[in-house]
Amino acid sequence: MKRLASQNVGPDLFTVYDSLFTSNLNARTDEMDKLTDLVGLSQAELVGFVQQIGEPAYRGRQIFAAVQHRRLRSFDEMSDLPKALRKRLRETATASTLTVESRYLSADGTRRFLMKTHDNFPVETVFIPEERRDTICFSSQSGCPLQCTFCLTAQLGLLRSLTPGEIVEQIIIALNDAYGVGEKPPRGTNLVGMGAGEPFLNFDSLLRATRIMADPQGLFIVPHRVTVSTAGVVPRIRELATIPDRPNLAISLAAPTDELRDVLMPINKKWPLEELLGACREFEQTLKAGERFTFEYVMLDGINDSDEQARQLANLLNRHDLHAKVNLIPHNPADPLPYQPSPATRVEMFKGILESKGIHTFVRKPRGRDIFAACGQLAAVTQTVGLGANSQGG
Ligand code: SF4
Repeated sequence: MKRLASQNVGPDLFTVYDSLFTSNLNARTDEMDKLTDLVGLSQAELVGFVQQIGEPAYRGRQIFAAVQHRRLRSFDEMSDLPKALRKRLRETATASTLTVESRYLSADGTRRFLMKTHDNFPVETVFIPEERRDTICFSSQSGCPLQCTFCLTAQLGLLRSLTPGEIVEQIIIALNDAYGVGEKPPRGTNLVGMGAGEPFLNFDSLLRATRIMADPQGLFIVPHRVTVSTAGVVPRIRELATIPDRPNLAISLAAPTDELRDVLMPINKKWPLEELLGACREFEQTLKAGERFTFEYVMLDGINDSDEQARQLANLLNRHDLHAKVNLIPHNPADPLPYQPSPATRVEMFKGILESKGIHTFVRKPRGRDIFAACGQLAAVTQTVGLGANSQGG
């Protein structure tokens, strides 16, 4: 794949995508299509798979632990399996379908991974180290079909939805890169489904992936540690309200009125604010202890950050009797997006007005801006940035 030295996101974006589509679209795809991706199987499904190829159930549990707990991505590394079984597995299955094309390390320690699927679609994942825990931001789709005007990913359109295995494998790759293959992360791991794509337009794969990752014999990242952000796919918010083992929910609002939200997030034309917040109210009523529910509000200079808009937002949430906290997210500028971040003083004023009306409000610190890893900046941008000493091969 062609590497670009420039940090200019605009025209380069399309060059990068051209190269992704035209390089290697080949035999690997056909070959991989015939193999079962074991990363996307639950422990019970893996037991079923090995029984189908004439192996005892315990081998399935052993392979599940090798893939999900020891985070091994090739059968050759599973040296505790008989050679004949490893050969059989190589013929019928795979433990890795993503390849890492580029990795970037930010001055603040954030790592961005540009990966590609076996059929050459880009996937982006961001690893964000924090004092008490790490956060991995994963993608649910390659590109995104929604057209949020403040988001770089929107410019790609939908390339395709990711499989459960491709969602789980992003986490395996990021943890192996940060700590070494199979090494126990020193801190807890939180996951956020805020990378490329609208997770609720890939709902079944998302839930399958979160269930696989929750297995104590595997990655053991429980749903309470996972937060999924939606632009407002109302039927799925209602469905999530009925699911007991669900991830935490975040709703990206971006505007306090339909008029403005129609422009910033065109999905609003399908599910306007009244309908969206009605579904949010229903969802909030089903919250159990330990579950988190938040609103995200990207702060765009001179667009959605006035005192009047803060009052409108507070009134909107209060009118729907919603108690979820609001995260204010400074916009991450990137060419060719037509917006600038609100100044810090404006963000503080906005926060003050929300709080004066009883809304719990936090300002989220931007991470990884210098490597295009921040919210709304994921669009397969390549650049030349050195990686730190902790980086592994790939
Ligand atoms: S903000 Fe999220 S939902 Fe909107 S276009 Fe970007 S990736 Fe898609």
